Amino acid sequence: MAIDQTRDETSFMERSATLMPGGIGNKVVVITGASSGLGEAAARHLAAQGATVVLGARRASRIKALAAELTAAGHKARAMVTDVTDRDQVRNLVDTAVSEFGRIDVMLNNAGLMPLAPLERLKVDEWDRMIDVNIKGVLYGIAAALPHMKERRSGHIINVSSVYGHVVDPGATVYCATKFAVRALSEGLRREVKPYDIRTTVISPGAVSTELLEHISEKDIQEGTKDVVSRIAVGRTPSPAWSPLRSASRRMSISTRSCSGRPLSRCEEAQRMTTLRYPNRRAVLGGTLAAAALSLAAHGQNGRDPASQVSSDVRIRIAFNDLALTATLYDNPTARDLASMLPLALTIEDFGSNEKIVHLPRKLTEEGSGPFGNERPGDLCYFKPWGNLALFYADYRWAGLIRLGRFEGGFEPLRVRGKFPVRIERVR
Ligand code: NDP
Repeated sequence: MAIDQTRDETSFMERSATLMPGGIGNKVVVITGASSGLGEAAARHLAAQGATVVLGARRASRIKALAAELTAAGHKARAMVTDVTDRDQVRNLVDTAVSEFGRIDVMLNNAGLMPLAPLERLKVDEWDRMIDVNIKGVLYGIAAALPHMKERRSGHIINVSSVYGHVVDPGATVYCATKFAVRALSEGLRREVKPYDIRTTVISPGAVSTELLEHISEKDIQEGTKDVVSRIAVGRTPSPAWSPLRSASRRMSISTRSCSGRPLSRCEEAQRMTTLRYPNRRAVLGGTLAAAALSLAAHGQNGRDPASQVSSDVRIRIAFNDLALTATLYDNPTARDLASMLPLALTIEDFGSNEKIVHLPRKLTEEGSGPFGNERPGDLCYFKPWGNLALFYADYRWAGLIRLGRFEGGFEPLRVRGKFPVRIERVR
């Protein structure tokens, strides 16, 4: 599971061990939403580390099978069918953990839904469900665990937010609101329970390929989002058609490396750095899901047509690995904004089999942008959701792009694989 995207390779469990005297072994961990995705992966991983896991979710067959599998493997696991929108059921989940295993050490409020859709489609029932599961479900988890933890003056409450708890994108508004709420209530909780020595952590994952997208009822949004996830999510499969992860353990082995057990304030700080200063695919994916899904909506944008291909008199040089390319910028606001930032010393890296990308230090203006056609190798583009330059050396078709210009005299250096320091400067 993710995130604050700290740069080291220390695992979640290793960090938890330092946060939790005695490590995670023998701790009793209650996990909501344990029937798939991050919750399931967390359950497997924690059980393998010696924790006793108490699994809650609505799909009885899934969590019972998981608990049986873990138990058969010699681990300690218990499944309780639980709907987190029902306070009594959540209380029962936690009380069962306490009565059967003596205590609750960790409450992992992970259950969540993400049925993305623009507000104007008025999917009010889905708004209600997200509020019920993503916010009230977390609150019910806190309400169930807190009395036990207060009594023992010990415990750790972990709430799963999202990068969408830090940024808002069109089409993800209500989901973002719920994940902002999770951060807010986690921060309040942190400050309130400090005197009881109860730890709190909020986790803000970027995109991980799970079943989360299956909740998106609007087919156009779902397809667009799956397309993005298939390209960039942690644990994605490389096929263009999104499919759930190969295996939960694979998910976990990838994602735990970037998970933090740090207290909220530091986690937030690191997250802010990730999303604002060091955008990378994992970190911003949550923030790009709807934007990319709604890139379809870019077709509705009014304004200047970037396909006009009117060249400006600005030429830029992109130099890396002792190679250099020059490009002429088009006469549009986004390209002019890029020119205003030069020179820049950044990093150029591979992405996919048709482009190199360069993350910019800030987003560029999108003023006047609109859809364009006749995409060709040799186009220099800006990808709005991630705020990066996209340098295409093969065919492409991707919504969410603004074309900034074209390379002159060939673009062969782009085919050199690898990640290099790059300098971008104006030559005219
Ligand atoms: P999944 O859809 O794979 O898992 C969601 C889990 O939530 C399932 O186990 C589901 O179980 C459970 N759930 C949903 N509704 C309820 C309910 N009413 N009561 C109890 N459990 C419920 O998605 P993820 O693993 O990706 O999501 C886990 C968390 O991570 C969510 O909070 C999500 O918002 C968050 N997140 C995920 C990201 C990603 O890219 N995957 C990015 C950022 C955050 P069941 O249906 O059996 O009840």
